[in-house]
Amino acid sequence: MLVRIRTSTPAPLGESRGLPLVDPQARQIRYLRLSLTDRCNYRCTYCMPEEGVPHHPRGEVLSLEEMVRLVAAFAAMGVERVRLTGGEPTVRRGLTELVAALASLRTSSGARLEVVMTTNGELLEELAGPLARSGLAGLTVSLDSLDAARFSTITRRGELARVLAGIEAAQAAGLPLKLNTVAIRGFNDDELGAIAAFAWARGVTPRFIEVMPMAGGRLYVPGALLPAAEIRAAVAAGAGAALVADTGEGVRGLGPATYWRASAGRWAGHRVGVIAAMTENFCGSCNRLRVSASGQLHACLARDEAGDLRAALRSDDPQALERAVRAVVGSKRDGHLFGVDGSGGPRKAMVSIGG
Ligand code: SAM
Ligand code: SF4
Repeated sequence: MLVRIRTSTPAPLGESRGLPLVDPQARQIRYLRLSLTDRCNYRCTYCMPEEGVPHHPRGEVLSLEEMVRLVAAFAAMGVERVRLTGGEPTVRRGLTELVAALASLRTSSGARLEVVMTTNGELLEELAGPLARSGLAGLTVSLDSLDAARFSTITRRGELARVLAGIEAAQAAGLPLKLNTVAIRGFNDDELGAIAAFAWARGVTPRFIEVMPMAGGRLYVPGALLPAAEIRAAVAAGAGAALVADTGEGVRGLGPATYWRASAGRWAGHRVGVIAAMTENFCGSCNRLRVSASGQLHACLARDEAGDLRAALRSDDPQALERAVRAVVGSKRDGHLFGVDGSGGPRKAMVSIGG
């Protein structure tokens, strides 16, 4: 069923319209991650407990109209890219209409806002074409194993074949793709080279993520952390060549990954990204904010503190939204406190903050 999004006037930004969002460490915020829902059709072991997490009542979740107003305000303050995430963004009704509305927004420099999404891929086979036609600029698909039994173990309810069909459909639809793999010692550390080769053979960039202790460390298994240096060694072994730091343009783009290239062999020149919040943290260049599905603005994934944008969006004060955003940006700290023993992270789960 077609979902109609009423496009109302974006939140006015007063005299500071166009003034960039700059935090106390002089980092300019150019990248927003927006969680569309706190619901998910998977239960990945490092992200969610088996029984799931308590959901916000419907009235506390931002409507699609509110999301468009919110992102328009961020775009006017210098945000250039918005990543739709969750929970699982594809379970949100009206997704393609939302993408179309967001993709028609302009940034403060007059460019088109770049709208990208991260998904587990379960529903992608049906959605890839409509998403591409709605103006989605890129897609990251999470894929932790190429072994069907392992895949269903880690996701607790996922089916590898469906995700692979989704990847194929996304490529057929012409969507630029990346693959995200959480690297876990004792689970998929013997597969990293194969996953990289799977991606490279399809012209896709693989990215490997160090596991982080969310949800008060409850889902974190300290020995499972595979440090970035070991991730690179495993990929190099799989690629049959050393990896060299990619110093070309975009070595650290708008996102958190550092990029590396295979130096020789069959996969020479192919790139791989590593997202290493634990052992090579990238806080110094963090230019991101996260908005949860209930409109809470987080300056840092590793901290529970958030500013309430939902209240600001629903208030009669036209300046309230910008004030709330700038207050959170002004409180953005210089680093996270994640410990390899599982301490120091937020009490909230990744799925509640927005991954
Ligand atoms: N459901 C979508 C998906 O899985 O792609 C989008 C949301 S998910 C929270 C975003 C990303 O966070 C996924 O790539 C997932 O693997 C990653 N992730 C979740 N929990 C994590 C954790 N504890 N440590 C590292 N990465 C995690
Ligand atoms: Fe769902 Fe993504 Fe979390 Fe897995 S990582 S449980 S797919 S939100």
